[in-house]
Amino acid sequence: MAARRGRSDALPRRSSPAVAAPPRQPTRWSPARPRSPYVKGVAAWEQSQGWREARDHVVRLQALVAARRASTQHLLTKRLVTQFAHVAIEDLRVKNMTRSAKGTLDTPGRGVRAKSGLNRAVLDVGFGEIRRQLEYKAPLHGVRLSVVNPAYTSQTCHRCGHVDAKSRRSRDLFTCTSCCHSTHADIGAAINIKHRALEALEQEADRPRLPNTPE
Ligand SMILES: [Zn+2]
Repeated sequence: MAARRGRSDALPRRSSPAVAAPPRQPTRWSPARPRSPYVKGVAAWEQSQGWREARDHVVRLQALVAARRASTQHLLTKRLVTQFAHVAIEDLRVKNMTRSAKGTLDTPGRGVRAKSGLNRAVLDVGFGEIRRQLEYKAPLHGVRLSVVNPAYTSQTCHRCGHVDAKSRRSRDLFTCTSCCHSTHADIGAAINIKHRALEALEQEADRPRLPNTPE
């Protein structure tokens, strides 16, 4: 450890003699005893009372958010399986959807902050948990659960079937580039999901089945 300089030579004294001071010795780094950032197994920056209080505060807030999310998910899925006989959801791959936009060092991505915000919003809803709850609650209530292919559900016009990414004018607005039908984007997508689920149901009904086979 470098020798600590005394207070007296921290600043040149006003009444210092006009003689030039000798050149300062270069600092000698001795590996003898490096200062450990850990004291009794706890990092030095985590030792203060304020840090611990702030940590506990954040932990409490996160637990509150988690509890509220869980209760909302159960309320929603319970309502779906008790009010409807047929529930259709998209077969969403949350893991693929929430991939980072960061890119690589050679080809850096664009809109990284925006994508990370969207990812947070997607994960905050907890689609995976909602689906898991629907999958076990639907049989309990005698409800049919359809899982449909999510491809282009938000780019397809539910009225004429035209598929165009440009039809999605903004986050909320959907205006078909072919027939000019306009609707809320999420409602249009939901109608498409319903259509797909009903189509799958009809195909299933048409399929011949051997007698006494479970569905
Ligand atoms: Zn259309």
